[in-house]
Amino acid sequence: MLSHFLRALRLRCPHCGGGPIFTRWSRLLPVCPVCGLGLERGERGYWLGAYFFNLVAVETVFSVWMAGFLLVTWPDPPWGVFQITTIILMVLVPIVFFPFSKTLFLAFDLLVRPPDAQEFDAPHEPARHQRRDSSRPSA
Ligand SMILES: [Zn+2]
Repeated sequence: MLSHFLRALRLRCPHCGGGPIFTRWSRLLPVCPVCGLGLERGERGYWLGAYFFNLVAVETVFSVWMAGFLLVTWPDPPWGVFQITTIILMVLVPIVFFPFSKTLFLAFDLLVRPPDAQEFDAPHEPARHQRRDSSRPSA
C-alpha cells in the first residue's frame, strides 16, 4: 500500500515502479512501459481526481505557509512580503506538483480499485528515450 505512494512520489508507475512514465513534466504516457497498465484506466475525465489532489496540495501549502509566516512575524507581520510570496507560491506550487498529483491519484485509485487483467491488454509502449533508441538500425 505504502509502496504505491512511494513509487508515485518518484514519478514511476504506482503499480510496478517502472518508468519513466512521463515524457515531459506534463506529459504522461498512455501506458506504463514496463507492466502495460493503461494509465488513464479507460475513463474519460479520469484526471479530475488528480486536479483535486493538486488543489489539496496548494491549499495545504497555503495553510502551512500562512500559519508559519504569522507565527514567525507576529505581532507585526510585513503584509506586503506576505502578499508577494503568497502569489508566487500559489502560481508555482500547482505547476511543480502537477505530475505528482497524477501519480499520487493513480496510486490512490489503484488501491481503491485494483486493476483487472483487461487493463493490461493495451500494447506495451516503450518510454520516449527507449523509442528513440529502438528506432536506430541495429548493427
Ligand atoms: Zn507499470
